[in-house]
Amino acid sequence: MPAKKPAKKAGRNLPEKYKNYIGGRWVKPASGEYLENRNPADTRELIGLFPASSARDVETAVEAAAAALPKWRATPAPKRAEILYRLGQLLMERKEEYSRAMTREMGKVLKEARGDVQEAIDMTFYTAGEGRRLQGYTTPSELPNKMAMCVRQPIGVCSLITPWNFPMAIPSWKMMPALICGNTLVIKPAEDTPLSTIHLVQAAEEAGIPRGVINIVMGAGEDAGAPLTTHPGVRLVSFTGSTETGRLVAIEAARNDKICSLEMGGKNVIMVMDDADLDLAVEGTVWGAFGTSGQRCTASSRIVVHQSVYRQFVDKLTEKTRGLRVGNGLRSNVDVGPVINQQALDKILSYIEIGQNEDGAKLHLGGSRLTDGELRHGYFVEPTIFTDVRPNMRIAQEEIFGPVVSIIPCRDLDEAIEIGNGVKYGLSSSIFTRDVNRAMTAMERMETGIFYVNSSTIGAEVHLPFGGTKATGNGHREGAMISSLDIFSEWKSIYIDYSGTLQKAQIDNQ
Ligand code: NDP
Repeated sequence: MPAKKPAKKAGRNLPEKYKNYIGGRWVKPASGEYLENRNPADTRELIGLFPASSARDVETAVEAAAAALPKWRATPAPKRAEILYRLGQLLMERKEEYSRAMTREMGKVLKEARGDVQEAIDMTFYTAGEGRRLQGYTTPSELPNKMAMCVRQPIGVCSLITPWNFPMAIPSWKMMPALICGNTLVIKPAEDTPLSTIHLVQAAEEAGIPRGVINIVMGAGEDAGAPLTTHPGVRLVSFTGSTETGRLVAIEAARNDKICSLEMGGKNVIMVMDDADLDLAVEGTVWGAFGTSGQRCTASSRIVVHQSVYRQFVDKLTEKTRGLRVGNGLRSNVDVGPVINQQALDKILSYIEIGQNEDGAKLHLGGSRLTDGELRHGYFVEPTIFTDVRPNMRIAQEEIFGPVVSIIPCRDLDEAIEIGNGVKYGLSSSIFTRDVNRAMTAMERMETGIFYVNSSTIGAEVHLPFGGTKATGNGHREGAMISSLDIFSEWKSIYIDYSGTLQKAQIDNQ
């Protein structure tokens, strides 16, 4: 992503200048420079100025995290959990304030921003409970008078690099398990949404997180993110974002001997069978395709519909989509907010053009930027439907990350599954059917990390594994305790021999 506008010299009404949080202090970036953060629904509104950090800030942040590590890892996990419980409580108390701020900085409609903060609350309480578990296991040894067990160990300093579309939820998915496992961390939020992550860190500070355990360094990916993938003091890089950036992160992590977990893009599919409740399927499509203006990694961007109900489905979807109100997400009657920035707007409009030029696909509804009245100050795109899309077209293969949905006809379940799986990504999929056999067949054969029956492709809950196959991830899962603990802890196997002799495994008992 190109760097944001550097801040101009401030005038009379000084906008708030935010700082990095390093070693328990809010500090200016080494460069002394800041980036503007503007409301995507109305770019006249400046949210604030945020540090344009660089490798120098990363250096101090990693040092602070390393210095805090010995004490934090020695703190009993139930004690670490007490801080998380307090943090969860603070987030609950400030849910409305943080949600409103999130809508202003990110654009998603207020009820979805509340969902984002709620997810962070759920994750915080859920993880706090793990403070009294963090279970390892015991197992018999092959030798007599010998005990074998394994325990989870902290990894060390973790760097967390996060995207803008869930600016509090995604940092919480990484931060909470990293903390409960006894790691210290440096987080680099997306430059488009630093404020929501600052709120999470401020609340953690108030909840009593010791100095240096959490550090936040803001700025552009290339300047503040990249050094977090190479710094020798960092042991683990946990990244969520696009597949393109994730690949760069993975290469740097591998070059520098770091553990690396990646959550990346998606091209998710809803399959609508001829026996489906069509009204429900339409509702699920509207929510999945246009919720968060299509800017969710799990957004339903392809709808594969059985040919015998295809026309009926398209008619119903068209009617429902026409009823959506696009505008500033702070207004209670708005369903769809803006997209995040000019670059996203350009990308989405260029994909709409690509779709129109693809032989056979029809631009059925929408397709334009909205500029009426106040909307001209923001990045608004009409909810857009392409019909008669073929599975190999670019709009059906590539992640558009905007309110654009492709409707693809199919003959039967087998073809729907083939189309559904025929992309490089593997995050989420769903089927609408009343036939349990079809639902079970699809469940078994879909190559995605998440699968829904009679629901949209979005709506994950924190206590189930979250992540995807193929180009969506590198095999890790966030969320659900066991899988996220597996990212943020390392196993230590322990053998205790109380036989009084030197017993040799694989040799003594041949
Ligand atoms: P990006 O890949 O553009 O950015 C993600 C983060 O990486 C940002 O903080 C960015 O900083 C940073 N970054 C950019 N370049 C580098 C670099 N060279 N080294 C280190 N860090 C870097 O993704 P977006 O923010 O645009 O988010 C949208 C993408 O995220 C979509 O593809 C979506 O599918 C995916 N996503 C995946 C999820 C999942 O769980 N599978 C969940 C949510 C989103 P900056 O933005 O400041 O430049």
